[in-house]
Amino acid sequence: MQRVFSGIQPTGIPHLGNYLGAIRNWVKLQSDHDCIFCLVDMHSITMPWSPEELRQQTLGSAACLLAAGIEPTRLYNQSAVSAHARLGWIFNCVARLGWLNRMTQFKDKAGKNRENHSAGLYVYPNLMAADILAFHATRIPVGDDQKQHIELANDIAQKFNHDMGVDFFPEIEAFIPPAAARVMSLRDGSKKMSKSDPSEQSRIVLTDTADEIALKIRRAKTDPEPLPSEIDGLAERPEARNLVTIYAAMSETTPEAILQQFGGEGFGQFKSALTDLLVAKLAPVATETQHLLKNKDHLISVLRTGAEHARSISEPIVQEAEKLVGFIR
Ligand code: ATP
Ligand code: MG
Repeated sequence: MQRVFSGIQPTGIPHLGNYLGAIRNWVKLQSDHDCIFCLVDMHSITMPWSPEELRQQTLGSAACLLAAGIEPTRLYNQSAVSAHARLGWIFNCVARLGWLNRMTQFKDKAGKNRENHSAGLYVYPNLMAADILAFHATRIPVGDDQKQHIELANDIAQKFNHDMGVDFFPEIEAFIPPAAARVMSLRDGSKKMSKSDPSEQSRIVLTDTADEIALKIRRAKTDPEPLPSEIDGLAERPEARNLVTIYAAMSETTPEAILQQFGGEGFGQFKSALTDLLVAKLAPVATETQHLLKNKDHLISVLRTGAEHARSISEPIVQEAEKLVGFIR
């Protein structure tokens, strides 16, 4: 059975982009893959953070993922399993600075003020490569924004294998969903929906109430034209395209089918139908998340059990990598 690894940062409540780009596919993969899902709390501290918020968001994210259908035994938090940090350090010494300099996520997150960002943000992709390769996972369900990091992980694995003269780390494959792999901000069709966007209006999160969803969709940026009947009509209309893509992905159909239904109409009716769809699909997740959050001890024990399972797989692999490097164990 192919092994799947994927992670999400507990930097806030998961949003619709995380759901469509990652979580929904994680749930589907569980039936026929050996899956490991991780709350990557070590990645979360690459940007400024508050310890209390990190604790709360780790449990909040755990509750959300379980509510969305992730099996409890598959879920843990990264910092609880030392294999990540150990292999991450080895990869810091394998990856080349030139490779990291090309990473667009670092450029996006650091902006103009690069000198003031943490060294952790810069080496984030090395730790991400370690997250995956510590499990010898080969199939990585991610949104489109992580494609470059997956390519880098393959470069690191290849260089490690080459330098150590072994065929130890497997080639990995990004598993990017065919639709809604990059859900855009509701306020700006040129930016991806992100937990770290300061505007809460830019994203729908999995715990939003029906009223919050309605308000965010009503305020979502659009243009004055009616919806087109053909897909080509969305080419220069990023905000309209984003809403149509969301509608199609949530109803598991194609944007073409949605335009057949709504083409020629203004956004009023479309937005109200989109709100109903989102509320119908997300309300059960929100209710279950709130229910799970009432028992924090249970959530902590789920993560501990998941960590034990993750340790049992990653420990022998990382010990072998350490031996190959020349570390005496
Ligand atoms: P942050 O802003 O803190 O980086 P994020 O919103 O980018 O948060 P991550 O935790 O970094 O979320 O990513 C978790 C998963 O969700 C990854 O697989 C990523 O590719 C996917 N993802 C993130 N944003 C989107 C999006 N807008 N559309 C589709 N997939 C996304
Ligand atoms: Mg991100």
